[in-house]
Amino acid sequence: MIVMKFGGTSVEDARAMNNVIDIIKREQARQPIVVISAIAGATNTLLKAASMSLEGQLDEAHARLNRLLERHVTIAENLIDDRATIQQLIMSFKRRFEELKNLCQGIALLGEHTTRSLDAIASVGERLSSLILAEALEQRGIPVELVDARSFIITSDQFTAATPLLEHIEVKIKEILPPIVQSGKIPVTQGFIGSTLKGVTSTLGRGGSDYTASIIGSTLGAQEIQIWTDVDGVLTADPRIVPQAQTLEVISFREASELAYFGAKVLHPSTILPAVEKKIPVIVLNSKKPDRGGTRIIANPPHSALSVKSIASKKGITVINIQSSRMLMAYGFLEMIFSIFNKYKTPVDLVSTSEVAVSLTIDNPTHLEQIVIELETAADVSVLTEKAIICAIGESLRSTGGVANRIFRALGDINVLMISQGASEINMSLVIEEEDIDEAVRRLHAEFFERKSA
Ligand code: ADP
Ligand code: ASP
Ligand code: MG
Repeated sequence: MIVMKFGGTSVEDARAMNNVIDIIKREQARQPIVVISAIAGATNTLLKAASMSLEGQLDEAHARLNRLLERHVTIAENLIDDRATIQQLIMSFKRRFEELKNLCQGIALLGEHTTRSLDAIASVGERLSSLILAEALEQRGIPVELVDARSFIITSDQFTAATPLLEHIEVKIKEILPPIVQSGKIPVTQGFIGSTLKGVTSTLGRGGSDYTASIIGSTLGAQEIQIWTDVDGVLTADPRIVPQAQTLEVISFREASELAYFGAKVLHPSTILPAVEKKIPVIVLNSKKPDRGGTRIIANPPHSALSVKSIASKKGITVINIQSSRMLMAYGFLEMIFSIFNKYKTPVDLVSTSEVAVSLTIDNPTHLEQIVIELETAADVSVLTEKAIICAIGESLRSTGGVANRIFRALGDINVLMISQGASEINMSLVIEEEDIDEAVRRLHAEFFERKSA
């Protein structure tokens, strides 16, 4: 059994969906379970419609929803031949869009949207794309069963970033999916969406379809988890910043998690975790060029001659500097600081300490104000916004000397505000100004991947 996840660009139009159908057909003998994202841009449009409703721009929100409905109708019409099936699909789409418009109306009337209502709205993208794909596969004579992911991805009620409740999920997945596979059908389900114990629709956070695929794969002990996307695999940098970035044939679970965590959007940061526990290989592949080999993410790849495997970057970083003379020799000070971040459920990415100061970074400033107020009761605090993290990642960083030197030389006149060598020793992270980040990525890429001696 394998899990195949297709991202938004892999199902953006009828031609892309046709590619997906061919790819699934080729793997039919390996008993695939298919996880699908919303069509490219749908989740953004849905959330935009919600925020426009909040601002009272209901007409514009409706216009956007109508255009999204049209895109789905066009895909169905170009993908499916049978008129009656198309009509049925269009009716289902229209019902969903009526629900959406009611939700938007509610938001406009109340003048507020809850995270719960945002998840109800965002979930429609995956519910529609999966409906089309399942119908199209059926029409091509491939036996499928559309399974609502909300029946088995049970989550906390932290809407928009819900935590999967794995013990509940395991029971449900084992109950629902294997019998479908054993009956010779391919289960088609949605990524990203789930439901709380009370049955309220939730989502796993943006990019969460990868996570769904990995949860299913690890629960059922899949042979592999395939992540089909719009690039050839995991590359030496984001190809949008460095067009000449190269595809990595194989990387370790640890390298992949650090890359995802530090901004490589190609994988959701939590994807690797369930796969690691069961040592299930994750393979990243290009649905537009399915014959390329992709990148295999495995537990113990052979030793690589590359000291750095990839450069990741993340914008929108806030640096918090905390200074206190009382900190001198005072144990418990760091604990006090972290307990404040814990209280506001705000993860800290990088930390660097000296005798009298601690600098740390966060990427979610939602509770910044309260955090600073509490920190100020014990220390002097200053906050720097619009910063970015650049991160060089590679297992061989541990055993290679001179990497830091090469990084600083390559960065040249770009100002570095903070440095951290991750505890895992496989990444070296620097904080710089947000406006410098793309240039910094290009410079490090040139240093480590575009020189003969690299
Ligand atoms: P999907 O819709 O298939 O989930 P995403 O847009 O979430 O696709 O992720 C794929 C994108 O990730 C690529 O188009 C690429 O721009 C970006 N990306 C960032 N860093 C990397 C990297 N190191 N390797 C590959 N892709 C990367
Ligand atoms: N559709 C969701 C998003 O755009 C989930 C995903 O694509 O993985 O974030
Ligand atoms: Mg993604």
